[in-house]
Amino acid sequence: MKKVICILFCLMLFSGCGYSNVASESFESMDTFMKIDIYGSADTAAEIRAEIENLDSLLSAQDDSSEIGRLNKIGSAEFSEDTADLLSQALELCKDTDGALDISVYPLVEAWGFIDKNYRIPGESEIDDLLKNTDYRKITLSGGRAYLGSGMKLDLGAVAKGYAADKAVELMKQNNVRAGILNLGGTVAAVGEKPNGEKWRVGICDPENTAAYFGSVSVSGKVVATSGSYERYFEQDGKRYCHIIDPKTGCPTDNGTVSVTVISDSGTKSDALSTALFVMGIDGAKEYWRSHTDFEFILLDEENTLWLTEGAEAAFRMNKDYEYNMKVIKA
Ligand code: ADP
Ligand code: MG
Repeated sequence: MKKVICILFCLMLFSGCGYSNVASESFESMDTFMKIDIYGSADTAAEIRAEIENLDSLLSAQDDSSEIGRLNKIGSAEFSEDTADLLSQALELCKDTDGALDISVYPLVEAWGFIDKNYRIPGESEIDDLLKNTDYRKITLSGGRAYLGSGMKLDLGAVAKGYAADKAVELMKQNNVRAGILNLGGTVAAVGEKPNGEKWRVGICDPENTAAYFGSVSVSGKVVATSGSYERYFEQDGKRYCHIIDPKTGCPTDNGTVSVTVISDSGTKSDALSTALFVMGIDGAKEYWRSHTDFEFILLDEENTLWLTEGAEAAFRMNKDYEYNMKVIKA
């Protein structure tokens, strides 16, 4: 009994320390809305915000003066340490997903109108021409300098928020902030635990009503990223065209997947894989997960089947009012 009381007392002491200050920042960056809540000082929260805004100014493909913008304009550019670090991680993930993630799809994203919002269906020959210049293997990084093959454009939009999450978590550690929740436009870093010692609950958007969550995952020390066909799309003749391009066809991914949530220790990985598994579809995603068990995923398809890997199922709770048919994927 004494021992139990002692442990409880220690836990109370432990959970009490470091939870006194809550600091928040809400802002727009990387073309989305972000909210940071940390158990730390206002200075640290401001430092994290400044770091994310700085990354945005380096990485935006739509800004000609960013490092990526300059590369896209002239085909080669000197990169700062962060941009080079992200590019090298992203190229590894392109290779590892066998090109389901391909950071050279930007000209196709533009051709379908997702950049200027003049949505259109490009002709077959236009797509074929653009596909000739879509190949992450033609992007090289050498001594901090990046080079593109001719006609290519780089887009780190599928991984930038995840990388920003990793940098933010790093800043929290450097400033001895042990807990917080960072929502970077749907890519959520859950650091430490809530003051009551429970894990954080991260909601997953209902694709039919993005103001609601169909469920949530309980996590600590993880980054949860979701890619969905409901985020950015247009409709023509009753068909939906989403912003995630299948680099093999040059067309918006159309394989019955509605959303993919990935949970891992790394923001860059979660963000990259949520996009890549979306492109792979459920069969490819299952196969990829079985050969890489360092992440978990939840995939919702058009038939309202919710596929969950074992670890994801253990962390998941469905909200009442939802009746998705759950299927657990075993290793
Ligand atoms: P969001 O940014 O909406 O959260 P994602 O992380 O899935 O969604 O990234 C999608 C963005 O990445 C697109 O807007 C586009 O710029 C780019 N993109 C689209 N398809 C791919 C792909 N197959 N590989 C890499 N990047 C992609
Ligand atoms: Mg992504």
